[in-house]
Amino acid sequence: MTALLEIEHLSLSYHEPGGETTALSDISFEVQKGEFISILGPSGCGKSTLLSAIAGLEKPSGGSITFHMPPGLVGYMFQHDLLLEWRSVFQNACLGLQVQGRLNEETSRYVKELLESYGLGGFLSHKPSQLSGGMRQRVALVRTLALKPELLLLDEPYSALDYQTRLTVSDEIWKILRSTGKTAILVTHDISEAISLGDRVIILSRRPGRILKDIPIDLGADRTPLGVRSNPDFQHYFKTIWEVMQHA
Ligand code: ADP
Ligand code: MG
Repeated sequence: MTALLEIEHLSLSYHEPGGETTALSDISFEVQKGEFISILGPSGCGKSTLLSAIAGLEKPSGGSITFHMPPGLVGYMFQHDLLLEWRSVFQNACLGLQVQGRLNEETSRYVKELLESYGLGGFLSHKPSQLSGGMRQRVALVRTLALKPELLLLDEPYSALDYQTRLTVSDEIWKILRSTGKTAILVTHDISEAISLGDRVIILSRRPGRILKDIPIDLGADRTPLGVRSNPDFQHYFKTIWEVMQHA
């Protein structure tokens, strides 16, 4: 495998009139092409900060972030789907392309194909409020995939969904990303979600976030996020990670 991204000794502090907040301290890890990495840590430990630094939205105070791919190929998906109510599903899905000035006949055909393959073909002119939570999240995913990103940054993208929808949608989205060979970094504070989706779980400490442990997850090649939850090894990983987090 080839590393797509290398993070070395990354630290990041926010400077505000009231003082300085150190959000991340001495973070180092590599991301291989095609890997799905879960970053797990308590609320406020610096998970969103880490993704913002990778996306280039926040400047590191120390260390380095090196891409072995063109940096423009990074897609971002947030906790809230951020769909615009006054735009149709199709118009929402085209938003990223439009903002980048890349919306044309070919790219809009691609958006339609994506919407169709993810079960939204019959909803192109619907408004976001007419969709279920899971469908909305799929529109947000299409909006991101339309830009053909190589690396996806997922910031607790399912946490606004109810538990059942969340299991189904995260299973669906994981399968889509797997089948297209995308590399993804997901941040979450949910241990089960981190294990069921990740090829690796990187556990962060409380703020300032440091890496406590980097655990490879081996639950078989034919795993699916929903399926592995009943695998006996899943409980084993849960227990190990739970114990590490007790000392976060
Ligand atoms: P998480 O995503 O793990 O909940 P964040 O990365 O959002 O954590 O935040 C880490 C710490 O940095 C928190 O203490 C938060 O208050 C602080 N922080 C986040 N963003 C900013 C900002 N723009 N300015 C100042 N402090 C911030
Ligand atoms: Mg966050």
